[in-house]
Amino acid sequence: MQRRKFLQSASIATFATSIAPVAFTMDNKQKFFRAAFLSDVHVKPTTIAEEGMRKAYKTANNLNPKADFIINGGDAIMDALKATKEKTQLQWDVWNKVLQAENKLPVYNCIGNHDIWGWQMTEPEIEADALYDKAWVLQQHKMSNRFYSFEKHNWHFIVLDSVQENNGGYIARLDEPQFAWLENELKTIDAAKHICIVSHIPIVSFCSAMFADKNEANGDWRISRALLHVDNRRIIDLFKQYKNIVCCLSGHIHLQDSVEYFGIQYYCNGAVSGDWWSGPFKGFAPAFAVFDFYEDGTVKREMINY
Ligand SMILES: [Zn+2]
Repeated sequence: MQRRKFLQSASIATFATSIAPVAFTMDNKQKFFRAAFLSDVHVKPTTIAEEGMRKAYKTANNLNPKADFIINGGDAIMDALKATKEKTQLQWDVWNKVLQAENKLPVYNCIGNHDIWGWQMTEPEIEADALYDKAWVLQQHKMSNRFYSFEKHNWHFIVLDSVQENNGGYIARLDEPQFAWLENELKTIDAAKHICIVSHIPIVSFCSAMFADKNEANGDWRISRALLHVDNRRIIDLFKQYKNIVCCLSGHIHLQDSVEYFGIQYYCNGAVSGDWWSGPFKGFAPAFAVFDFYEDGTVKREMINY
């Protein structure tokens, strides 16, 4: 009895001393920079959506310590997949108006499925329109390509395009030219750099399994091809060759998780719009993420219920 008591207090003491130095190191580590990850804003011309986006961007611009830049994780607007030209334009107008008023930080944009125009419209003339497909979102965000990379101190960021056309809907995967670009991009990055990868749809995530309300009748989990990269085995095999890939950030699911798989931390970062502007979604309040990136390759996430 006494021996067990001793062992219990000994293990508590060991636990206490083992966590203290870690906390000390984290606080004293040099913080290089901070990024706010705002995803799934789904803005539309309604007061609640416009004011919500306003508040989220205002909060992200006034963090303490300040954020160095913003990553827009995609689905900036409510939906362009099956919206007329007029309705799509109205949504982009709100997006641009709020950004201009509330944002002073550089924004790195990632394309979401709902940012793409016309895939679910039936009018034949839409496909011939110069704004069809991803042309409109590229123009709005002033992006020269749908996937790209950038650097900040000793970190290399890669922004991917998760969303490909699939029989009038979409599927989560990288197309062949993009995968070839990614392979080549990873080859050229200095091994001393830390890598962070952004995709609208998660590459690895538990949230994707929790999106449906229930499993199949036989108990199988239901994960749609639109909710998790269907080519993730191929991407994970590629990532295994690069020990300096630290983390992957995504949105799309409107839920939040953090999953470590083969040494990489995958963060799914909720939604600024919560349940598409009707409150929390499956218990997750409208939120965005703040990431602190350190010189030594560590990363910390904090979720902000703005
Ligand atoms: Zn999405």
